[in-house]
Amino acid sequence: MARYTGPQCRLCRAEGSKLFLKGERCSSDHCSVTRIQKNKKRAMAPGKNVRSRQTKRTDYGVQLREKQKMRRIYCMLEKQFKLTFQKAAKMPGRTGDSLIALLEKRLDNVVYRMRFASSRKQARQLVSHGHVFVGGKRVTIPSYQLRVDDKVELGEKAKKLLLVKESMKEYTRSGVAPWLEVNPDTLVGYLRAVPRRNDVTDLADIREQLVVELYSK
Ligand code: SF4
Repeated sequence: MARYTGPQCRLCRAEGSKLFLKGERCSSDHCSVTRIQKNKKRAMAPGKNVRSRQTKRTDYGVQLREKQKMRRIYCMLEKQFKLTFQKAAKMPGRTGDSLIALLEKRLDNVVYRMRFASSRKQARQLVSHGHVFVGGKRVTIPSYQLRVDDKVELGEKAKKLLLVKESMKEYTRSGVAPWLEVNPDTLVGYLRAVPRRNDVTDLADIREQLVVELYSK
């Protein structure tokens, strides 16, 4: 399946919730979902014949939507996402927690969480264009799994990019997740711990257990 290149907000509307795909805009009043929630007359789902699609969902349908939401949040293709799940299922402990830990330790996600990019999509581009170094070595694989105490930094060219400077303003406003440590002056960061489920607060309304049930059939 090809990567989706259409409007990001359309994905949020299709899922009926905010997936935070557009950086700063997502927390502002310009967010389509926020606007629709305020203006209750407008249909949330995109496209025509919305009413006819709003039928009661089966258990399978609910599980499938939850999986699609998670996959879209992390900007992953189905195959990649399923492989990550299979890896999580072999790990000790709750599969849902392991799945989130694996997704959070992806290099593109960590670059985003360190505030070097304002969205995962932008972070993915920084990585695949060779702007990101792990332990001093250039890594161009967005799905690269980081380990505890790995050092992540941007190349000299990337440090001067306007998009990075703009995105670092979020560091000043909200800092970084508790499992990360970032020096905003040098744009060097470290993954200090395995991310725990409770620390991933922006996924609070995601029910990863439904994804586990879906793939366990
Ligand atoms: Fe668009 Fe972000 Fe709002 Fe989703 S959360 S609708 S991507 S602005």
